[in-house]
Amino acid sequence: MKKNQITGHTRMICLLGSPVSHSISPMMHNRSFELLDLDYAYLAFDIKPQELSGVVDSFRKMQVRGFNLTMPDKTEMYRLCDELSDAARMIGAVNTVVNENGTLIGHNTDGTGYMRAVENAGFSITGKKMTLLGAGGAATSIAVQAALDGVRELTIFNRKSKTFAHGEMLVKKINESTDCRAKICDLEDSRLLERELSDSAILTNATPIGMVPNEAACPLPEEISLPDGLIVSDIIYHPEETLLLKRARECGLSTMNGMYMLLYQGAEAFRLWTGQDMPVETIKKEYFD
Ligand code: NAP
Repeated sequence: MKKNQITGHTRMICLLGSPVSHSISPMMHNRSFELLDLDYAYLAFDIKPQELSGVVDSFRKMQVRGFNLTMPDKTEMYRLCDELSDAARMIGAVNTVVNENGTLIGHNTDGTGYMRAVENAGFSITGKKMTLLGAGGAATSIAVQAALDGVRELTIFNRKSKTFAHGEMLVKKINESTDCRAKICDLEDSRLLERELSDSAILTNATPIGMVPNEAACPLPEEISLPDGLIVSDIIYHPEETLLLKRARECGLSTMNGMYMLLYQGAEAFRLWTGQDMPVETIKKEYFD
């Protein structure tokens, strides 16, 4: 039999969301299956939240091994899982499902992806303080995983909006369920932001400010100075270097963009489905560098 041929034994893994056709996930997973000679195939389907329940029922019958969810399906999937990981339960959203003989177990690997990217870049933030900009979907995943992974203190900044109220609930959950001390503050309060940054190990931008086509925007007002030794990270990867990262680099600070968060959230999902490590160094070279 030819290598990589789809047979009657091949098990399917999918990406569901809307839109999905731009996603790099099918390439990185199928290439990893090929490199490790694993009998899976990964396909993407454009599925809206109101269609999700029917698709998920079919997936159980089809013994699909698992699937990823992207926006806007992550929160709807949270309601459809039979079991949830600790992180997914706290985040309230699922981006990875593993089908264990008909039991659908929901995980959220976005935060793990970010934390692994930080580690991979050679930074250690365990026991330290993180300042996080944004309290939306990605920020929630990062906040929860950082707290679960031993970040000691977390200050979230968001403008006063509906998302701020979500952030207040998030902070309460983190304080109740982990050893991390979390709080949320108004993003408009520049002096407070500067003060919180002064003893932070890492600043994480989890807002879309600075993303294409608004590359001229920066989430930090110009008057705020960045302290020595601060790691400045952005989860945006388009452009590769946002204005925030450029400013930090010009101050001599270490920086990290969102590329490898994307890679490692996929690598963690891959491990959950296959029990094997994604060959990340090859995937990095072929798709990310
Ligand atoms: P989201 O759920 O819509 O959250 C966006 C966050 O940014 C909210 O806190 C929002 O606050 C804030 N925000 C947006 N525009 C703002 C503005 N003009 N001023 C101040 N705050 C603003 O989006 P998301 O899914 O978390 O995604 C956020 C960013 O992360 C996007 O750029 C996305 O591409 C990127 N991302 C990267 C990865 C990766 O793997 N690298 C993964 C996921 C997401 P309000 O609600 O108050 O506006």
